[in-house]
Amino acid sequence: MGATLSASRGQKPRWGLPPWTIEFHSEPLAAPEEVDFAVVGGGFTGLAATAWLRHLEPNKRVALFEASHIGAGSSGHTGGMTISETAAGGLPGLGDALAGLSRILRELEVRCDLTLPGVFEIGRHGVMPNSPIVWNDSGTLGVTREVPGGTIDPGKMLSGLAQAASKRGALIFENAPVESLTTEESPILNVHGKPVRARCVLLATNAESLELSGLSGQAQPKFTLAVATEPLQAEQISSLGLAAGKPFYTVDLPYLWGRVFHRNRIIFGSGLVHLEDWRGLLTLNVAEGHPAELLADLERRVHDLHPVLRGVRLSHRWGGPILIADKWEPVFRRHAYHRDVIVLGAYSGHGVALSVYLGAWAAEAMLGKRDLPHWEDNANAPD
Ligand SMILES: Cc1cc2nc3c(=O)[nH]c(=O)nc-3n(C[C@H](O)[C@H](O)[C@H](O)COP(=O)(O)OP(=O)(O)OC[C@H]3O[C@@H](n4cnc5c(N)ncnc54)[C@H](O)[C@@H]3O)c2cc1C
Repeated sequence: MGATLSASRGQKPRWGLPPWTIEFHSEPLAAPEEVDFAVVGGGFTGLAATAWLRHLEPNKRVALFEASHIGAGSSGHTGGMTISETAAGGLPGLGDALAGLSRILRELEVRCDLTLPGVFEIGRHGVMPNSPIVWNDSGTLGVTREVPGGTIDPGKMLSGLAQAASKRGALIFENAPVESLTTEESPILNVHGKPVRARCVLLATNAESLELSGLSGQAQPKFTLAVATEPLQAEQISSLGLAAGKPFYTVDLPYLWGRVFHRNRIIFGSGLVHLEDWRGLLTLNVAEGHPAELLADLERRVHDLHPVLRGVRLSHRWGGPILIADKWEPVFRRHAYHRDVIVLGAYSGHGVALSVYLGAWAAEAMLGKRDLPHWEDNANAPD
């Protein structure tokens, strides 16, 4: 059976800058005509899968194709909070994503400031009597529960995974959008008008190129926003109840999440821009229209949360995409058009730990060492 799945892309997005840097640039190389494994998308998912493929099978030819640059998508614009569960809660056979994340990063020697002190769930009702957080945000916000988790430095995790993949001999191509995927006997990617044949392909393109991943009409792309404060004093962080470095998210609405970054800045996030089509991401500008209004709302909220934050300057404003699929469950399945094409993503804003954990799992599935999970009955059959 043959099918061509196109992925038209547009200009460079203007999503603003977060407070970390990504220290990785791929070497200019000619794309191979044939590889054993091809990975599409240079976010946490694609990079973890690529590094893990070469970690387990150093003799297989592995190539990653990234449309823009490493971290151009959600992973470079994330909050970096590591959470153990999916947005839909625990799923059958998921296992311990946080333990898996720690093990994979350790084995790949990726240093990205991973700490797992726990995560505060905060809310306006059922607040613990000794809550370290007492903020003002549509009522009094305080800690309702603590759950496992922590934080990473997203720039370091992206750079570290890319370096781990590259050091192990994977080929990484930036500015290499996969324009289409033809499925004949084996999948063939079209990169810059040239075919690249692969035994097996992983599509880790998240909220973009939904026609390629077969998720168009099945998952909703959204855009969400974040700000970072200028560096604060240790006493200010302590007055906010954040001295232990535990990130937080609200369990009721209006939604708010955040974390301490590099022990001095605080990142806060909230707000959702709804998009009719994922291509809206490519023209979205955080300095204009609805995204700018949501950022202004977030800034006001941050200043009113606590007296310590009243006059604090916000040094960074940015946003990035998330993809929400059916029942908020991640998509991890074989493509409807070809069993040797795996689709992984749509973490609904809970993708930092899961992307690395499931990316490594996808690599094991590509090598035939492990089955995919059965979180949904089947990929949708072709028409
Ligand atoms: C503001 C914000 C805050 C967040 N905070 C958290 C958090 O605190 N905790 C948490 O767990 N999750 C959080 N998330 C979600 C998390 O960041 C994502 O789930 C995760 O980064 C997804 O990684 P990924 O590799 O699957 O996708 P991405 O990082 O989006 O990577 C996909 C890549 O594919 C590339 N691509 C697309 N089409 C093509 C093509 N045709 N050819 C080649 N390449 C292509 C893109 O350029 C992109 O680089 C947040 C997200 C945002 C936006």
